[in-house]
Amino acid sequence: MVTTEKMKLIKRLNNELRHCRKCPGLNVQSITENAPGYGNLNSKVMLIGQSLCYKCMESQIPFTGGSGIFLDRVFEGLGILKSQLFITNVVHCHTPRNRPSKTSEIENCHHFLEKEIEIIQPRLIVALGKDATQWFLGKVRLGDVLYRQALWNNVLIYPTYHPSFIKKRGDEATRHFVSSLAKVIGQWM
Ligand code: SF4
Repeated sequence: MVTTEKMKLIKRLNNELRHCRKCPGLNVQSITENAPGYGNLNSKVMLIGQSLCYKCMESQIPFTGGSGIFLDRVFEGLGILKSQLFITNVVHCHTPRNRPSKTSEIENCHHFLEKEIEIIQPRLIVALGKDATQWFLGKVRLGDVLYRQALWNNVLIYPTYHPSFIKKRGDEATRHFVSSLAKVIGQWM
């Protein structure tokens, strides 16, 4: 798909997302607002988190600050910019106090993520945490599939912890997270 076509499709999708009211209590401006996926429409790599963080409502960029600093370390180590990749979430809205997403919210938002993948056509998807991993691989235990590539519709899926979990795990886990991601993402840059 050529870039102009992708731009047209993503613009339409983002407009639909902006006005989405499928989930009760979500997509309330500055409270539980949503943000579209961010970055390069031609990226071979997509990163997918669980839901939008509080700060990300204002920036409209997933993984702004907070646990996103661990992803920034990966990008810095590779000498790339966040904008060179495409980053989004399973649930595009900010959930109140970052509570876990409800199953209904994941189901309601399925269409937006599905369309983003269709438009971007990535070769590698880094699934950050349980929600993203289960979106692709079904009801697996994250611990059983962690850091192991799997195939989904001819796309490589790389399941990892969510960066907010890594934040609580100490230096060694952080180093492993950053170096594993850098290794797998670096192969596609
Ligand atoms: S989570 Fe997704 S489906 Fe639910 S209101 Fe937000 S954008 Fe719409």
